Amino acid sequence: MKKGIIITSIVLIIFLLSIGIGFYSVKIKNKDNKQEESLIVTQEEISSTNEVVEANTEKIKITPNTKLVLKKFYTKCNHTINSYVELPKEFVNMDEDEIKKQFPNWKIDKFTKDEVVILKEENAFCNEHYVLKEQDGKIAIFKVNQKGEEILKEITNISIDYLPEQDLLNIKNGIKIYSTEQLNKTLEDYE
Ligand SMILES: [Zn+2]
Repeated sequence: MKKGIIITSIVLIIFLLSIGIGFYSVKIKNKDNKQEESLIVTQEEISSTNEVVEANTEKIKITPNTKLVLKKFYTKCNHTINSYVELPKEFVNMDEDEIKKQFPNWKIDKFTKDEVVILKEENAFCNEHYVLKEQDGKIAIFKVNQKGEEILKEITNISIDYLPEQDLLNIKNGIKIYSTEQLNKTLEDYE
């Protein structure tokens, strides 16, 4: 029990000290930009100290270094797409509740000082589905939209005349492809 109190006190002292150093650093920064190099080091130390403190407190706040990730889960294909976005400046110092208010239709999936992940489910296909089919004797690229409809995107110059029989059969049935990278690879194979 006593041990607990001592540890809590130490953590509290470190926390207060780091706040003090933080204010002091800001003051230095305003006064003299030449100090910037030593300033950065000071701030790194502060953030590592803060990490320890945060494990013991509930209010984690966003810092200018927090990564913001928008995670969309597409229920029609079970794919998840993560978008790493630039952190809007006005988000700095916001806590979890305040971020929730910024994204009313999203769930908070992860909220740490280093990374905030917000999650949304979409009843749709993701943006990474393609089908290769034959059109006018060439291989054509169809893109699958969010409803699952195949929309013609491009007719390539690749003729189907010289394709091996199995490939020809596959193309006639439609080759389903996931991801732009895989699409390009497949097209290269046919070229
Ligand atoms: Zn998908």
